[in-house]
Amino acid sequence: MSATATHGSVKTFGKGGIHPGPNKGMTSGKPIEDIPPPKEVRLPLVQHLGEPATMIVKKGDLVRRGQKIADGGATGAPLHATISGKVKPLDRYPHPTLVMSQAIVITRTEGEGTEELEFPEDPAWRGVSREEALERIREAGIVGLGGAAFPTFRKLTLPEGVKLDTLILNGAECEPYLTSDYRIMLAHPVEIVEGAMVMARILGVKRAIIGVESDKPEAAAKLEAAAAGAERGDVKIEVGMCQARYPQGAERQLVHALTGRVMPARALPSAVRVLVQNVATAVAVHDAVRYRKPLLDRVVTVTGPGIREPKNVRVPIGTLLADLVAFGGGFHKGVTRVVAGGPMMGRSLPRLDIPVIKGLNGLVLLTGVSPFEGGYGPCIGCTRCVEACPLGLEPDQVSVRVEAGRQLETEPFGAIDCYECGCCTYVCPSSRPLVQFMQVAKASLRRAGELRIRK
Ligand code: SF4
Ligand code: SF4
Repeated sequence: MSATATHGSVKTFGKGGIHPGPNKGMTSGKPIEDIPPPKEVRLPLVQHLGEPATMIVKKGDLVRRGQKIADGGATGAPLHATISGKVKPLDRYPHPTLVMSQAIVITRTEGEGTEELEFPEDPAWRGVSREEALERIREAGIVGLGGAAFPTFRKLTLPEGVKLDTLILNGAECEPYLTSDYRIMLAHPVEIVEGAMVMARILGVKRAIIGVESDKPEAAAKLEAAAAGAERGDVKIEVGMCQARYPQGAERQLVHALTGRVMPARALPSAVRVLVQNVATAVAVHDAVRYRKPLLDRVVTVTGPGIREPKNVRVPIGTLLADLVAFGGGFHKGVTRVVAGGPMMGRSLPRLDIPVIKGLNGLVLLTGVSPFEGGYGPCIGCTRCVEACPLGLEPDQVSVRVEAGRQLETEPFGAIDCYECGCCTYVCPSSRPLVQFMQVAKASLRRAGELRIRK
């Protein structure tokens, strides 16, 4: 186990990483605004990896905001109506992952019978059992809101024999442009701390650390004040300051920075007795346990030089991206790329008739020439990509072998471990699409591995 690298009291991970222009100034000063209820929401049955939800309402039903409309089964997360209205027939629509996916569409109606369901406080919420808290989290349809979107009740249900000692809340938000978590930390510090305590009790851990990058001192101060004022029992909650450095918010890097523990390759944080949850997820957990409130909305940063009024917007899940762009005043300048998520790890989208799903934290509208428009050059062997890789992989070696059609020779250079953070691509002076090369190599190695097992 290597020691935590520190810069004064500010911690960070060991090697690699980059300092991309943060571009957060467009929205960091913008408090969260509520979008007016959209005319229609599309709720894909697939919101995360794993079992899709199963529709439990039918075409023509009138549903109320807050009502469960699809069951998550044993391993998935239920879905709820995020506006009141009429259910259209189940059909296939574009999904942020660019596959077509079945979605429940609700068209908004107003008047009697369409009032939002109410979620009054359970006065005994602090005393609910671990099982009851987990059940409320499951029933609320909560998934990780930092992007990964794994069902939260499953993440909080530890396999037999696994023991943890620390919960980390991820408030690092290291992707350039995005500020939704930052604004949530400013607006809801008490709910984050309470959510952390609920999760710490479920996990049986006595220590929770909220990781915040050092360029967000106001958020850290609010969280510290909330932690100091909370009824913490025997749970110790602290705020850990991390260096503003990409990808500080990746689980592996955050765990290293805040605890000094190094996760083995391809392992989960539980291998070093830690579990990581995003700060927005903590708010949702608080709301679920205290009010039995389902996950209906999420905060999305809508930003970039291609939008007139960059904003942080709270939207009903299922709102179309086109509605988000319209709420931001529409396109500004020539938009060349629309990215769902942050520009480092997000996905370019070819269209805007795609809904916000539970894990979507940003919509970035970029202008100007895209990095690969002019093609890319040969590897000049500068090794900048190797120095930038937080995992110590060799994307240069992988890329030249993939170009030569020798994917299966990439194993020693670590393609299978790549988590696609994009640092290598960012620094390459030859503009080589190194993440894409890593993806191709990884897919080939996985296929070859599966074939070996079948034989
Ligand atoms: S940064 Fe680009 S040019 Fe430099 S070694 Fe890596 S792949 Fe080659
Ligand atoms: S994308 Fe993969 S190879 Fe490139 S820096 Fe990130 S982990 Fe390393």
